[in-house]
Amino acid sequence: MSGHQASLGTRFLLYPQSPATPGYDKPELVWISDKQGSVLPGPQNDRMYVVNPSVDKQPYEYPYLPPYSGMIAPPAEPSPEGHFDHIDPSDPAFLGTHVFGCIARVLDVWEGYLGHRINWHFADTYERLEIIPLIDWDNAQSGYGLLEFGYRPTEAGGRDLFALNFDVIAHEIGHSILFSEIGLPMAGGMPGPDLFAYHEGVSDLCSLIAMLHFDTALDRVLRRGSGNLMALNELNRVAELADERQIRIAGNALKMSGVGTQVHDKSRPFTGGFFDALIQTYHNIVVAQGLVDLPAGSITDARDIDADLEQIYARAFEADYDLKHFQLKAALADARDIMAFGLAKSWGRLDCENLNYADAGFAVCDALQEHGHGNVADSLIESLAWREIITPYDVHVLGQGRSRSAVWI
Ligand SMILES: [Zn+2]
Repeated sequence: MSGHQASLGTRFLLYPQSPATPGYDKPELVWISDKQGSVLPGPQNDRMYVVNPSVDKQPYEYPYLPPYSGMIAPPAEPSPEGHFDHIDPSDPAFLGTHVFGCIARVLDVWEGYLGHRINWHFADTYERLEIIPLIDWDNAQSGYGLLEFGYRPTEAGGRDLFALNFDVIAHEIGHSILFSEIGLPMAGGMPGPDLFAYHEGVSDLCSLIAMLHFDTALDRVLRRGSGNLMALNELNRVAELADERQIRIAGNALKMSGVGTQVHDKSRPFTGGFFDALIQTYHNIVVAQGLVDLPAGSITDARDIDADLEQIYARAFEADYDLKHFQLKAALADARDIMAFGLAKSWGRLDCENLNYADAGFAVCDALQEHGHGNVADSLIESLAWREIITPYDVHVLGQGRSRSAVWI
């Protein structure tokens, strides 16, 4: 194998959404950064390994913990060239291969934004993550040093396997990334007031951003609305327009006063505010490039004004859409990268023991500002204020250029 080949990476077949989702029944070929030939049978590499129990395995529960020591089925074998994309989805070895590839992909995406390797938060105890792709269990769990998957029973009596669901896998790895980047509360320490809700919402965003790295997903999301993402962003229509679970979650119109204390519920306004700013950034790029003629005013304004705007947006995007698809796709990828970069760079500014939503939002804004995206930071502030995550008073103080730390003591 030549050095040139080795630098290309390793091929896997991944489903961007559960294959039961319309338009996602075919897996996409994806390159992960592991050097060709370096991923060993399992698959396994220096940070994770797949184990396929060949007998009934109970879910891990203390004191029953990895490593798994029971009977195992044969591992997935790489092709002679060192790739894993020759394994057909009908092959039992595909499941573990798929989970492995999804995790490697999510890590590649977020390490790119962070600019450093993500080390497992459990590295002191376990050198590598253990992945169990399928046990007879209607659940999935991410624990200290382990990830194991069951299935969701379907109405037709079938099984929707979590191992084939990129969203479930990416969300769990999102939690792991956060544990590594913002830490775990020390024994006896107190988690910040919004830490757990933040974890849920940002894990959803980790999954959303990673999903938007699939060609299939970008194409479908754009073509479905002729490039108009506002259509995905209206609560009442999201269910019919968005096939991607990540977008159904992020495309909400919830404010803090409209959610309870349950962590998933409480996570929605921050996720929605981030998604609004992503779409606003996409709009700003397409307008600046002269691709689409949109009315002045922000998405946040549009939420409170009138529904006719929705029609105006739709018509503006539909004009000559087929001629603009690829440019709009590049613009969406740019908006995705700007927002994801701001999010990743905010983590170094946060501490899990006193994390609150307002600080977390401002940390993203600060990171954006520092990297020359002041207008994007402004959009995010506007959208977080609408969501009641920061207050107009905070915005006012920021606008005067005073340190906001005075506000949050
Ligand atoms: Zn979660």
